[in-house]
Amino acid sequence: MNYKVLYRKYRPDSFENVVGQDYIITILKNSIINKTISHAYLFSGSRGTGKTSTAKILAKAVNCLNPENGSPCGKCEFCLNFKDNPDIVEIDAASNRGVNEVRTIIDNVKYTPTNGKYKVYIVDEAHMLTDEAFNALLLTLEEPPAHVIFILATTNVESIPITILSRCQRFDFQKIKIEEIEKEINNICQKESIKITSEAVSEIAYLSEGGMRDALSLLDQLSKNGSEITLDLIENEIKTVSQRTIKKLIDTIENNDIEQFLIKYKELENRAVNYKNLVKNIIDYISKKALQIKKTGKIHHLTFEDCKNLILELSDSLLKISINVNSFTILEMILLKYFDNNIIKDEKIIKEEIVQQNANAEEKDLNINNDELKKIRINNCFVNAKKSSLEIAKKELTNILDDDKIEGKIRTLLSDSTVVASSETNLILTCFNSHNVNNANKELLNIEKLFAKIVQKKYKMIFLTNEEWNLEKEKYIKNIKNNVKYEYINENLDNENVKEDLPKINEVFDVSKVEII
Ligand SMILES: [Zn+2]
Repeated sequence: MNYKVLYRKYRPDSFENVVGQDYIITILKNSIINKTISHAYLFSGSRGTGKTSTAKILAKAVNCLNPENGSPCGKCEFCLNFKDNPDIVEIDAASNRGVNEVRTIIDNVKYTPTNGKYKVYIVDEAHMLTDEAFNALLLTLEEPPAHVIFILATTNVESIPITILSRCQRFDFQKIKIEEIEKEINNICQKESIKITSEAVSEIAYLSEGGMRDALSLLDQLSKNGSEITLDLIENEIKTVSQRTIKKLIDTIENNDIEQFLIKYKELENRAVNYKNLVKNIIDYISKKALQIKKTGKIHHLTFEDCKNLILELSDSLLKISINVNSFTILEMILLKYFDNNIIKDEKIIKEEIVQQNANAEEKDLNINNDELKKIRINNCFVNAKKSSLEIAKKELTNILDDDKIEGKIRTLLSDSTVVASSETNLILTCFNSHNVNNANKELLNIEKLFAKIVQKKYKMIFLTNEEWNLEKEKYIKNIKNNVKYEYINENLDNENVKEDLPKINEVFDVSKVEII
């Protein structure tokens, strides 16, 4: 059997080939160049980050007869015979033999190396050593012979006794960045003539969680049947849910499309994917989304706050899966909560769309005629519409028309206008001629400025046709009868504090108190 699994075949054999640990490699190379080698090292970090490979390269480098710039030359007698060298001892502490082997080491430590300068003991999964073994090791570490180097590698540094830690030079191996894993996968696929789509490369890198060994094991598994590696193949083979699939699922929430959500969700459930992985992948996706929202300030249906809550709920759901209920049901219920059917929240989205438009556009580019703005301004006027305000606003309009300086188009428009509803902050006006409604809405900012200048009132206005107004009025009266609350919708995020000063809920729910006409 000549087949060698990819992660063994492409295991780095020189410092230069170790991926993603540049900082550690630089320090180690410098210690070879400057001959400042420690007698005990501790390499900690999650699996597949290069700890054991680095330990072996270090063992080679300290013994190499002609190290080149801190790296083993690969050509000298020692480098060439590295594999069968009795001076390099690898111990897997996870196996039962760990304790005995540590004892044997300690007995043999006193003998000088047969070939090289140093005897190097590499202890893998060092946290698995028993207390006895650690104690024995400690005695040696306290007074290590000059020709001995210990390299302890562990995925669980918390389990290593402080007494051992304090005697080691410690290096924390970072998870390897997704881009670096992608680069390595591409590299290997090219050398091995493995066909793979770029989406699949990213997915494998994502699934490997910063561990090169896992990435290459996955690649191994997926390349077995010889066909091109695609996202579909990954999903089928690994029984995983790709980030693309998660995106499609979450997009249904973004689009408030419950029908599509139910279809996609059922598909996932039927595929019998691992529930924990599914939740974990959704959490990953949502975290990335939350970060994007913070970074770009772009407004989505799912807000940063929603994302945060969703992540907390999903994490919480992982604790509940031991309870004897269908975990997919829990997940479905959690996700369904983030769809919105109620009017207030829908208006919130509309508001956010407007805010986004405002953020991008100059004031004058504000699309006055758009229906959403109309809806918001009508709503906001109704929040606190008062007969007294209406009377005042009507007088203000007359005062403005009395001003001789007002002429041309604006005069024509205002002469045709009637204030039909008013609060302290908002006005609804109608025009007799429906053609003027459009034109007035186009001149909205100028008209608002005019009010500010002449009667010192900063109103937000909207013009409606008589038909539109009659419909809105009917709706308002009906809502008041049904105790529907009007909530102020902010048009501009920059003026968040304005919102605080305004009444949020209309407390007048008695039909007899309808204050608009
Ligand atoms: Zn060498």
